[in-house]
Amino acid sequence: MTVHDIFETMDYGPAPESASEARAWIAGHGGVFGHWIGGRFTAPGDLFETRNPATGEVLAQVTQASEADVARAVRAARRAQPGWAALGGHGRARVLYALARIMQKQSRLLAVLETLDNGKPIRESRDIDVPLAQRHFYHHAGMAQLMDSELPDREPLGVCGQIVPWNFPLLMLSWKIAPALAMGNTVVLKPAEYTPLTALLFAELSAEAGVPPGVINIVTGDGAVGEMITGAKVDKIAFTGSTAVGRRIREATAGRGLSLTLELGGKSPYIVFDDADLDSAIEGIVDAIWFNQGQVCCAGSRLLVQEGVAERFHAKLRARMGNLRMGDPLDKCIDIGAVVDPVQHETITRMVEANTEGERYVAPIQVPSIGCYYPPTLITGLTPAATLMQEEIFGPVLVSTTFRTPAEAVEMANNTRYGLAATLWTENINLALDVAPKLAAGVVWINATNLFDAAAGFGGVRESGFGREGGWEGLSAYTRPKTRGAVLRRVMPFTGSGAPLDPLDRTAKLYIGGKQARPDGGYSRAVHGPKGALLGHVSLANRKDVRNAVEAMNGARGWARTTGHARAQILYYIAENLSARRAEFAARIRALTGGDGESEVEASIRRLFTYGAWADKFDGQAHGVPIRGVALAMREPVGKIAALCADEAPLLGLVSVIGPAMAMGNRVLAVASEAFPLAATDFYQILETSDVPAGVVNILTGSHEKLAPHLAAHLDLDTVWSFSSSDLSRLIEEKSAGNLKRTWVNNARATDWATAEGRLWLDHATEVKNIWIPWGE
Ligand code: NAD
Repeated sequence: MTVHDIFETMDYGPAPESASEARAWIAGHGGVFGHWIGGRFTAPGDLFETRNPATGEVLAQVTQASEADVARAVRAARRAQPGWAALGGHGRARVLYALARIMQKQSRLLAVLETLDNGKPIRESRDIDVPLAQRHFYHHAGMAQLMDSELPDREPLGVCGQIVPWNFPLLMLSWKIAPALAMGNTVVLKPAEYTPLTALLFAELSAEAGVPPGVINIVTGDGAVGEMITGAKVDKIAFTGSTAVGRRIREATAGRGLSLTLELGGKSPYIVFDDADLDSAIEGIVDAIWFNQGQVCCAGSRLLVQEGVAERFHAKLRARMGNLRMGDPLDKCIDIGAVVDPVQHETITRMVEANTEGERYVAPIQVPSIGCYYPPTLITGLTPAATLMQEEIFGPVLVSTTFRTPAEAVEMANNTRYGLAATLWTENINLALDVAPKLAAGVVWINATNLFDAAAGFGGVRESGFGREGGWEGLSAYTRPKTRGAVLRRVMPFTGSGAPLDPLDRTAKLYIGGKQARPDGGYSRAVHGPKGALLGHVSLANRKDVRNAVEAMNGARGWARTTGHARAQILYYIAENLSARRAEFAARIRALTGGDGESEVEASIRRLFTYGAWADKFDGQAHGVPIRGVALAMREPVGKIAALCADEAPLLGLVSVIGPAMAMGNRVLAVASEAFPLAATDFYQILETSDVPAGVVNILTGSHEKLAPHLAAHLDLDTVWSFSSSDLSRLIEEKSAGNLKRTWVNNARATDWATAEGRLWLDHATEVKNIWIPWGE
């Protein structure tokens, strides 16, 4: 080619990155790897191959872990943990800083190895994956340094089992290992079977950085090894991967008292309004769906374009697709590399071929004949319910549909079981800031996409899982409160046969949608005092009553949009009305439990004041992320909370869950203390006179054991809390796997109700949504 030819075409020439250093590192290990346990490599065992998906070439052989390997790694982590925690925040900060520095020094080697093993363009591994991974270690070195002063009530969990996918092997490892180590935990991590190499290089570098033996352990292998880690004696499981596997892990860890975070799949909407800067939005969508060949959990894989500009936008998009460069991932001028494995290639192909709707457009670009390449594809004209609009393809395939109004855009965007990320483009900041809070997603990008930073938590809602990685909110999942309750004994209802204390005894009804409601089943039971006196009768709720209560909660959506000030007023008003009837409530508690009714009523009034106080003060944050702009961490209500209330404090236990839930804008379905339910049925008379909108608080009475499965399995509840003295933690965690709702269970441990308030409760009553807003022309 002559210089003249080059000027004519203005084409990029190849700019290949050398792989010789990475290959030399592999060769230095004889091309064969064991696990990294206790600060060194074990002898190789049962081997499997890891390949370069761009060529099919075998890069190395790694070991499929056995149960014994996993047990050994967990033992090493367990032995190392007390010493690592005892090093103190500053000691750990120095080691994490050293890790960040060594990753910087070896950044090119890490990037090239990642590209070889995964198939992603070197431009991405060099400029995005590796710098973000380093950034995580720097940021969390700081978190380690600040732990003692900023989190004085928290302690490490112990040993964390961590399982990561293949799409961002080193980055996902960093997201998991950095916060775990910062908070004084040790880890056993499994990289994905397709991409184990950077984890093994990282392990080796960690020794150079001074990480003590046993603090980081890496075991390799497939899903079976993941299952072994899930089943091992660890204190936490942190999983990133598919929703299907996440669900299995939820079930497998149920009732074991483990901390669990699940970062799962997504089908994130990319919304383009008709006033958007269309050319920028085109560059954005290229990044949203063709970054890492679309193998991105938060990929903007569902394009929603406003009707008036749809034709123009699609035309521009087709033109842009024609300019994408696909080929050798080690070429620095390449936009799109290879998908990770032939298995993934087949999955994408199968899903696209099965679709019979809409119109398929394949980018008219050169696709290499060897290697796992799938061409950039756009499918337009799909209906919102089409499989490809609903299911994660996890490849370079964009599906698209149109909308008319902002309200319709929100409805279509939220028409998915997922809730990971969302992107929106408009030049109208008012519209953007109106729409962003309405989107069911953990992260929202305005006029930008795929922005990440260690200071801003990342994670989803709904079936995209629970927990956050990064930010202050990410840390709580790697710590626990220092105080631990005693073993909780089952509180049994009193029995008796005496005549009713009140000759006008009525059966207390349920409280649903602001009204007293008879139980669907028509059953009730007698409630007796400690000496056997008949205090009254209480309704026994069933599944239908749960459904009715959830329907009533759906009718009270507006509560989430009320101001903190308005919610505070109502909480104070409830406290005021309770105070006016304190003697009557105290007498009722005394009659029910034989305990000190006055103190419990007094504590309940105080608690309501506490949450009246918090309602307008539990604010989010404005994160200083490294862009020209800001990431707003907004505290949003979780949604619909069901809570099984404590038996040992029938009024205070009830108020302690209703308070934080209401204060943060949630709707509540509270199941009263099973043993002493009449304090709760009296309480709804207070609610009736305190301006609480219908459906915001609903109270059921009955058997915790019978109601818990209906709450946990209900697909339209967002979270279940259990403070019941019946041991229901396992059942609730297991049944919650259906829609992957958040759970907060007591694991049969007592709660100190005198102090059970504040930030921990508010955290459980909220989700953090990070809204990224770049600024400047
Ligand atoms: P995957 O669930 O098949 O595998 C993820 C990891 O889990 C791998 O290490 C795998 O070996 C292991 N695994 C498989 N079966 C297991 C089991 N039964 N028990 C324990 N571990 C098991 O997912 P994948 O195909 O590797 O990754 C793609 C998925 O990951 C997509 O759904 C994507 O959206 C999701 N993802 C989510 C995030 C996030 O932060 N939310 C980030 C990246 C990827």
